[in-house]
Parts: sequence; structure tokens; C-alpha cells
Amino acid sequence: MTTEQKIQQLREDLREHNHNYYVLDNATISDYDFDIKLKELEKLEEENPQFFDANSPTQRVGGEITKNFETLTHKNRMYSLDNSYSKEDLLDWEKRVQKNLGTEEIEYTCELKYDGASINLTFEKGKFVKAVTRGDGFQGDNVTTNIRTIKSIPLIPNGDFVSDFEMRGEIILPLDGFNKMNEERLANGEEAYRNPRNTASGSLKLQDSAEVAKRPLDCLLYQVVTEERKYKTHFESLENARKVGFKVPKTIALAKSIDEVFEFVSHWDEKRHDLPYETDGVVIKVNNLQQQEELGYTAKAPRWAIAYKFKAEQVSTVLNEITYQVGRTGAITPVANLEPVQLAGTIVKRASLHNADQIEKLDIRVNDTVFVEKGGEIIPKIIKVDLSKRSADSEATKYATNCPECDTELVRTEGDAKHYCPNEFGCAPQITGRIQHFISRKAMDIDGLGGETVDLLRKEGLIQNYADLYDLKVEQVIPLERMAEKSAENMVTGIEKSKEIPFEKVLFALGIRFVGETVAKKLAKHFKSIDNLMAADFDTLIAVDEIGDRIAQSIIEFSNDLGNIQLIDRLKIYGVQLEVSAESLENQTDKLQGKVFVVSGVFHQMSRNELKKAIEDNGGKVSSSISKKTTYIVAGDNMGPSKLTKAESLEIPIISEQDFIDMVN
Ligand code: AMP
Ligand code: ZN
Repeated sequence: MTTEQKIQQLREDLREHNHNYYVLDNATISDYDFDIKLKELEKLEEENPQFFDANSPTQRVGGEITKNFETLTHKNRMYSLDNSYSKEDLLDWEKRVQKNLGTEEIEYTCELKYDGASINLTFEKGKFVKAVTRGDGFQGDNVTTNIRTIKSIPLIPNGDFVSDFEMRGEIILPLDGFNKMNEERLANGEEAYRNPRNTASGSLKLQDSAEVAKRPLDCLLYQVVTEERKYKTHFESLENARKVGFKVPKTIALAKSIDEVFEFVSHWDEKRHDLPYETDGVVIKVNNLQQQEELGYTAKAPRWAIAYKFKAEQVSTVLNEITYQVGRTGAITPVANLEPVQLAGTIVKRASLHNADQIEKLDIRVNDTVFVEKGGEIIPKIIKVDLSKRSADSEATKYATNCPECDTELVRTEGDAKHYCPNEFGCAPQITGRIQHFISRKAMDIDGLGGETVDLLRKEGLIQNYADLYDLKVEQVIPLERMAEKSAENMVTGIEKSKEIPFEKVLFALGIRFVGETVAKKLAKHFKSIDNLMAADFDTLIAVDEIGDRIAQSIIEFSNDLGNIQLIDRLKIYGVQLEVSAESLENQTDKLQGKVFVVSGVFHQMSRNELKKAIEDNGGKVSSSISKKTTYIVAGDNMGPSKLTKAESLEIPIISEQDFIDMVN
């Protein structure tokens, strides 16, 4: 046997043992023998570096440090799921699906909704290449080095399967492992982690992959995404994924009708408490992949799937105090501080009270016994007050009149549910919050600078607003607590790099109230520069598609504020993009204004996403389902037959990829 063969042999052996142990839960070798083999392989690899392989079992112990996780764009968007809470919701969904597909007989797959952090694993030529978090669905963080340490993920799936694909799954912390971690923490005098889901998700962003390797993380897979049309159904693709080594839970089941779906749901609503990990519902998917493609997506979620949420658990506890939090826009959120109580596997100490109306509506008072429920959100909510336990001398809650941070008198404009602290430039959480928003990923995306550091820089008097960031010098930052030279340099470089961020994101970053991501895009496209936008009057603003009174008013307030005018002037001087770049203008036209496109099938000259972007860049709209409003269907290979019939019956012109390219050029 040559050395190379020996190395391959050991790798195969160890992979097999990993699979038996971590996926099948059936150890076939003692820990001791496993270690001996691993050591032997390590030694051979060290002596023969020419045979290095990132997917070798030796690479799974971690050790690599990641300071900043790189942002990567998903090849295929990671959607969320629509939720349902009752049988009626599910029946409505079934009706929609049946109507869209034009058939009553539909087969479904039922899966549990695993409660962790979503992950996208990319495999090329049958080998693991990268792992990216869901992020905002379009872009996520590259957490490959950390994910590699999770041993139930096969880095080289073994057997007949597709070769270029993405595996979608959930990174979870099984309850056993989570409890053990907490026991250790408590023994070391550290605070316990609050719940498995957040701990799993936090683990992905640890800098030291050796730390990640020590955590008992697991990965449950629920979707194969591939252009290879090897499997006809979702269920079949998952069963085959399991055969080649992926941990696809055995709980998945086929349902021939919605009644069988109900059976699955009621079975697991009860039995889920016996599972080794947390679930918060069931996910129901149309099984046939061709039908999935025909159904397509809404702006947020696939039409071919729906989540059914189990009813949340409730407990009662005492409300000790109401405190108030100030957000980045000055919005005040009342918070209930509760007597700590165990709820759905976690300890609950706080709940959001939303606003003054909510407190009044439920008549919530300090010292009341309240019912708390944990829905899908991390923050639990108060459902109602147990009036039978209220003492006779209890008094109605008086809502705060002044800001808890800066003592400025709060204001509440008509029609707004929230109170605000108007001290925009002098109230600490607003200053910090605005800068934190400015640097966040969807805004200026500044690497090397985190939320806590922003707060620290503000406390140290180094920054008062986002323009100040661009004046920061490495020497000023180094003396700060916990700041190494390298991190200081990374931070300043990150800030410098943000000067390349396109105008639409800068506009969002400015944090103008009611100007979210989508509105910022619209405004950038319409006005092309901050000067044009700030010069626009009310009528000009509301004439823009989808810009209403509230947004227009807020933009005008922003533009008339002297402080803001100065900030914008400074950003201009630093070289931040305050107008649409010539390059992006060049690619944008209004040629497709008012036209609605549906894209279907597989394309050759550009990817589906490039095609959609080209439509939008030229002023057109992309829709995922055919209706009377559709102007054209751009059809590639393998367009779904039901789409074709629908297009024909509505007499909508079908054009080819080439036709489309000719149309825009
Ligand atoms: P939501 O975050 O509520 O929109 O739900 C969507 C998320 O559910 C996905 O991003 C997945 O991470 C997660 N999920 C858990 N189990 C499943 C499953 N069996 N199928 C699809 N998604 C799942
Ligand atoms: Zn304030």
C-alpha cells in the first residue's frame, strides 16, 4: 500500500466511524481506538503535506480562528415559511395549493420544525465546500470553519447522490448536551445559557473553531437544492440524502391527504416532549418537486410549504416592575420585569409590553400575577392578568412621562402607538442606536466594528454620530479596553471600505424614520442623489410610487434639521456615496416600466437571479405566479406544464431568454 492509499484508507475508516457514531448513534469502535487511528492519520498527513485535504477527519477538531465572518450571497435565496396556527389555516392553504395546481390530489411531506439556526451547506462534485448562515435570506455569514467541526455532517457523502447541491438544515443543540453545558458553566461559577436555540445560533459565530468543536452541536437536514433532476419528490431526495450520510430525522413522513397531515400534527404535538431536541411545529411541503416549482414563491416564502405552529405554552408569574427602553429612533418600549419562571425549556425574566395602549388594554399593574406565553419570538409576551390574585390597594399603571435615559419629556404624535424621546442628538441610546444601525449589515456593512464597541466609543467621547466614525484613527482606538492593535486596524479599514457602499444602502443607513430598506431603494432610484431627495417638497415626494404622507413628512423633517444637514455635508467630504454611481445608472433603464414578468424554467446565458435582477434594473417587476397582470413569461428549459397551460389560457406571450436579452439591449 502506498502512503497515499494508507491515508485514504484511514480517512475512509474514520468517516465511517463518525457516521456510525454521530448519525446512526451506534458506535462501532472504542473512543480509544478511534483516537489511535486519528493520531496515525494526523502523523501521516503531517509528514506528507502534499496530500492535505480540508475534508479530512483530522480537520474536524477545529483550531482555526475567524475574526470577521465574511458575508456571502446565497446562490438560491433562503426563504422563510408562512405560519399557520389551526386546522382552518391548513385547509385554506390546501385550497390555495389545489387551485394553483389545478388538481385535488396532492401528496405532502410532513416534517418537524427543528428549532435552531438555519444553515446552507454547499457541496461541489460531491464534496463539502462551504457553510453559510441564513442571514437575511439573500446573504449570510461564511461559517465554514465552525461547521466543519460538527461531526454528524458528512463532508464527503458516501454513495449514489446528486453531485452539485446545497443541503439546507438546522443547527441545533440537543437538550442533553445543552443541559450538560449548563451544568459545567454553573460549576465554574458562570451564568447558565438561556435556551438551546440561541446557544446553537451563537455557537456558529464563535471565533475559535476549537470551542465550537467542543459543543455538542448537531445538524438536522430538511432540503436538497439542486439543478440535477435526479429525484421526482422531496421525500425521495431526503431519503437518499440520509442514505449517503446526512442526518435526516426518521420522523419525516408522507401524507396522502390533509387528514393524514392532521394526524401527524396531533401525534407530534403530544410526543414532541419525548424528542431529544426542541421543535416548535410541523412543516408541511408539497412532495412533488415539479409541483413545487409550479407553485413558486411569494415575496417571503414558498407557496409549496407551510409551517404549523404548536400552541405555545403558558405559565403564570408575578410582575415585579415596569421599566422603559429607548430605541434608536427614540421609540419607548415598556418592559415587564417578571419573577423568573420556567417556560418551554427556558427561564423567563422579562416580557415586552409593546406600548401604553397595550398596558391599558390589559390593565397590567405592578404586583399583578400575569400569564406569560412564549410564541415563536425570543421575547415572551403577557397574555392576561389573573384578576383574582390582584390586591385591593392596587393602582392603575401610570405610563412614564419622561425619558428614562435623559429625562426629556416624552411625546406622542397622534395616530402613533408609541411614545418617543425627542432628544435625538443628546439621548445616549439614540446616539448609539443610530450608529449601530448605520454600521449594520444591510446598511453600511462595516466589518470589524460591533454594537458594543460603538457604545464604548461613544462613552469614551470618540464618536457622537455616524460621521465621526470617518475621523477615527487607529491610535485613538488602541488604548480602549479589549482593543488589540489588529482589531483597531481592522475597524478603521472596515470604515474606510464602507465608502464604496452604494447610495441606496447609505440612504437606508441614515436611519430616517420610516425609511426602511425597500423605501430607500425606491427613493434612491427615483431621486438619484441625496441633494435631490433633500430638496424635494411634500408633493414631489408623495408623487413617488409607494411613498405616503408619513414617509414624506419624515423625510422633510430630516432634511430641514440643521444637525442632519451638517452630517450629510461631512459624509460627502469623506467620500461616502451620496448619489447613484455612474456605473449602476448605466445598467439601469426604464425600458420595462410597468411590465410584469414571470420567470420559469432553466436558463443558459444567465442565472435565474441575474435574469430577475436585469428585469428590475430596467424598471420591470418580477412576479412568481401568472395572472392577468402578467405582461410576459420568460421561459427557459423545462417550464412547468401547468404554468404553460395557464399562460395559454390567459393568452400571455411567452418569450425566450434571447428574446428578453434583445428586448433590453
Ligand atoms: P421562520 O424562521 O419562522 O420563517 O421559519 C423558517 C425556518 O424554519 C427555516 O429557515 C428553517 O431554518 C426552519 N426549519 C426548521 N425545520 C424545518 C423543516 N423541516 N423544513 C423547513 N424549514 C425548517
Ligand atoms: Zn432620551
